[in-house]
Amino acid sequence: NMIQLDGKDGGGQILRTALSLSMITGQPFHLKNIRGARPKPGLMRQHLTCVQAATEISDAATDGAELKSTELIFNPGAIKAGDYHFKIGTAGSTTLLAQTLLPALWKADGSSTLRLEGGTHNPMAPPADFISRVFLPAVARMGFYATCELVRYGFAPAGGGEIFLKVTPANELKPLDLCERGDFISQSITAKVANVPKKVGEREIEAALWELEWPPECAQVIEVEAAGSGNCFGIEIVHENVTELMTTFGMTNRRAEDVGKDAAKRLGGYLKTGAVVGRCLADQLLLPMAIAGGGKLVTMTPSNHCQTNGEVIKAFLPVNFTHRIQSERTHLIELS
Ligand code: ATP
Repeated sequence: NMIQLDGKDGGGQILRTALSLSMITGQPFHLKNIRGARPKPGLMRQHLTCVQAATEISDAATDGAELKSTELIFNPGAIKAGDYHFKIGTAGSTTLLAQTLLPALWKADGSSTLRLEGGTHNPMAPPADFISRVFLPAVARMGFYATCELVRYGFAPAGGGEIFLKVTPANELKPLDLCERGDFISQSITAKVANVPKKVGEREIEAALWELEWPPECAQVIEVEAAGSGNCFGIEIVHENVTELMTTFGMTNRRAEDVGKDAAKRLGGYLKTGAVVGRCLADQLLLPMAIAGGGKLVTMTPSNHCQTNGEVIKAFLPVNFTHRIQSERTHLIELS
């Protein structure tokens, strides 16, 4: 019984969610129109690496696993724990690769490690810090344990980065409950610059501090080493139950002040709405929640990913999502 999926309205997320769910449920799938809504549809290097890595971990048989392919059949075997090393070969996101493989390794019969090479700080993907500071602590609340260490920074387009994860099988799982932030713990602003003048980071910080009205002591510029140049700006706020990290990227033709202000505005928005789980984290938590058997969270107006992820999950698992607008700006998502 082959699950039929159509990617015409989405991007790589449909593929990644399908790979994760196929591995853990053992159900094969046929995905058509891969990344159909993207300007360059089909499997790019980072998506192909996800397919190849999933194939190795679950002894899968595939058809269509090649660059630019717009159609894929994936038929998994048994998941094997192990020490894996995957190299994307471009600045493609190692963190999205990690998120694809983690659910399978949580279901494996022993501990695993993942050494992943490629981009670690990419726009349009969770930065490595988001995985270690935000995503992993959130899923640990359900009983999914892993650590993620940044070995080397990799920015687009040069890449050359590496992350290293240690994954423990998940034995006892419990539903997620993220409906309250809990007490405020800390706030910090970090401007990371690699082969970019420190002054750029200082200007980003100044703009963000002005916007948020936070004290200068909470901000710092960190000069990091990387193969190419890069600039990642992050604002973190830690509460008892949840951490949020808003990141923006400096790029040519973008004023440093705008980079800082953009992250600050988005963080300010999160704080003002009263949401517990930010938009990005919300779409990343649906899959682990479905595996853990449910849960609930309070978030902001959900992204498109939330919708697409939900649909792919329902194709594989007998789960039910309910979505209720709580106040003008917060949404309760419940999964059972
Ligand atoms: P493509 O087909 O181009 O690969 P995609 O479908 O993979 O697109 P994206 O829109 O690139 O999807 O988003 C990928 C994931 O990255 C989403 O889960 C999103 O929540 C996450 N993400 C994007 N930006 C950030 C960020 N700044 N912080 C945390 N997570 C992020």
